[in-house]
Amino acid sequence: MVADGAHILLSMALVYLLLRERRPEPYFVAVLAASIPDADKFVFTPLVRLGYLDGVVWFHRGVMHSLLFGAILVAVLSLFGSRRAAIIGVVSHLCLDFLTGGVRLLVPLDNGLYGLEIGWLLTNVAAMVVAATILFAGLVDRRYRSRIRSALARLALREQRE
Ligand SMILES: [Zn+2]
Repeated sequence: MVADGAHILLSMALVYLLLRERRPEPYFVAVLAASIPDADKFVFTPLVRLGYLDGVVWFHRGVMHSLLFGAILVAVLSLFGSRRAAIIGVVSHLCLDFLTGGVRLLVPLDNGLYGLEIGWLLTNVAAMVVAATILFAGLVDRRYRSRIRSALARLALREQRE
């Protein structure tokens, strides 16, 4: 089990690292893409309990964690924002879940569970620490980069006057 916060933080950190985006939109798209697959807990579980759905693909980490659903999710989110950010969100979600028990990647072709069983607590903590460090470093870099640029601009103005 991976915490929703780990999926969100990791997707944002990866967007920052890979896309170097300053606009909020790609981060929002990545967060949606990284969060939506776990909606299967709320969407399908009640229907399974009521007997409307049957089979392992409808449980958590089933059909909504497949490559097919991921491709559909990327296509839909691409209508509203960055396709690359949507891909980052979906892939980061599937990778984290792959490492912490597995996902049914190939539904509907194969209902098998693919993945590893690395401790979920270790994976959650590691993902959150790495992601938070990347995001914090990005914020610090952004803050000091603007200060350095403004200081250089002041120096250039001073040199022009002399
Ligand atoms: Zn998941």
